[in-house]
Amino acid sequence: MPPKRQKTSDPESLFQFEAVPECVIFTDPQHVIQAANRATLEVLGYAREELVGWPLEKIFPQLPRDLAGLVAGRVKELGFQVKARMRSGKRAILDFVASPVSLGGQVAALLYLGRDVRVRSLLDEEIRRARNYFRAIVEHSPYGICVTGLDRRVMMFNRAAEDITGWSSDGIIGRSVAEFYPLEKNAEQVESKPLRAGQRLVRQLQFRRHDGNEVPVKVSYVLIPDPGGNGELIVESYSDLTDRKRVDQLRNEFVFVAAHELRNPVTAIKLLLDIIFEDKRLVLDPILRGYLLKMQEGEERLLRLVDDLLEVSRTEAGRLKIQVAPQNPAEVIANLLAELRPTAVNKNVSLNYRAYPGLPSVMADPGKLKEVLSNLVSNAVKYNVTGGTVTVSHQVKGNFVWTRVADTGIGITKEDVLKLYQKFWRSEDLAVRAQAGTGLGLFIVKELIGRMGGEVAVESQKGRGSVFSFSLPVAG
Ligand code: ADP
Repeated sequence: MPPKRQKTSDPESLFQFEAVPECVIFTDPQHVIQAANRATLEVLGYAREELVGWPLEKIFPQLPRDLAGLVAGRVKELGFQVKARMRSGKRAILDFVASPVSLGGQVAALLYLGRDVRVRSLLDEEIRRARNYFRAIVEHSPYGICVTGLDRRVMMFNRAAEDITGWSSDGIIGRSVAEFYPLEKNAEQVESKPLRAGQRLVRQLQFRRHDGNEVPVKVSYVLIPDPGGNGELIVESYSDLTDRKRVDQLRNEFVFVAAHELRNPVTAIKLLLDIIFEDKRLVLDPILRGYLLKMQEGEERLLRLVDDLLEVSRTEAGRLKIQVAPQNPAEVIANLLAELRPTAVNKNVSLNYRAYPGLPSVMADPGKLKEVLSNLVSNAVKYNVTGGTVTVSHQVKGNFVWTRVADTGIGITKEDVLKLYQKFWRSEDLAVRAQAGTGLGLFIVKELIGRMGGEVAVESQKGRGSVFSFSLPVAG
């Protein structure tokens, strides 16, 4: 006969615990079971009447030590693990938290909330499997993946990252990525502010492999919160650009050779056409003259394209020969404006030069400086409106002379300004498409100015005009 159930309170009415997935047991302060939910019965294999009214010791062979503290209200919560006795005689390992239930200021019952440790180990197993799954994906990704803290110490390094850098993951974990980043000071630092704002950061770097060789790599960065709760982590992925660089080099070589070979016959045609127009002995009938003039126009465009292609492939192959020496920009500009005046007059555009008294000389390659100015001033004329003006002026800022080419032409939209210096880019604007062009001029300008130690800048307003400027270092 089970002992008589002592009715101290009715804990079942306190909350609906029957459907709770964890084990819930109520006892009175004398540790007699008053209620047990379905999960408890299922885990331990008892019928309800085999537990309710029985002392807790029936299932807990040893009661936790500080139960008296709970009953006295001194202890508010007690966690313990117990090998609970099942009906089958086996033991179930359960994690329990016991807490007092007070009614009217008195401890009326004790509540035991328990979880079957087997459930936990099943969960652990599931988590382990998911973790292995993701680890395998990361490990076999064709991209190098490296995870670092904000201190740039490596925490994870996959197989492809090992292949690219030549570092084993065991060797690099705990060390800084600076081990294989370029030698320049702070090359391994990443600005976390834009990353935090959700921006994608991509860089092309030359990694130093463990064997001392260099490898071109595209690196992209993302910032993620540390799952361990310690701030943030930087996840960087690497793609090896060696093959792409080789293809680029071959393509560039091809363009250079083709453009170089084209230049001779094209120049020969130009010379012949010049002779035809200048030879007084030849009497050209107007129709033939018209055809020849069209040929000359097309031929000049072809020559410009060939020259631009040559210059681009020279810059890309690092073949550009630049020899800087002190130059007086005013002289170069005066000569150039004189050359371009006939074209400007044709378009009814006035060319002005605002001389700068006492303008210092700049360090520049004379041929390249002329090329830069010629590109900018021709554009300012070409993309101008009838009756418009082009004004060339200077500003001296610190150790640099800025030269500004301002026009009152068609202007450029804000989005297009961002694309201006890309190779072959030309605006979709009909006014631009009506003009002959290669889309290479500004790319070349930026390269040349960069190589001479300066910078380029643009301000523009669609429909109002543009100002293209560049800086060059003051000589001496
Ligand atoms: P191209 O003039 O041969 O097309 P560029 O590289 O010199 O090539 O210029 C690229 C593009 O930039 C032009 O096609 C045009 O859309 C725009 N652009 C350049 N200069 C100006 C200017 N002064 N005003 C308006 N648009 C310009």
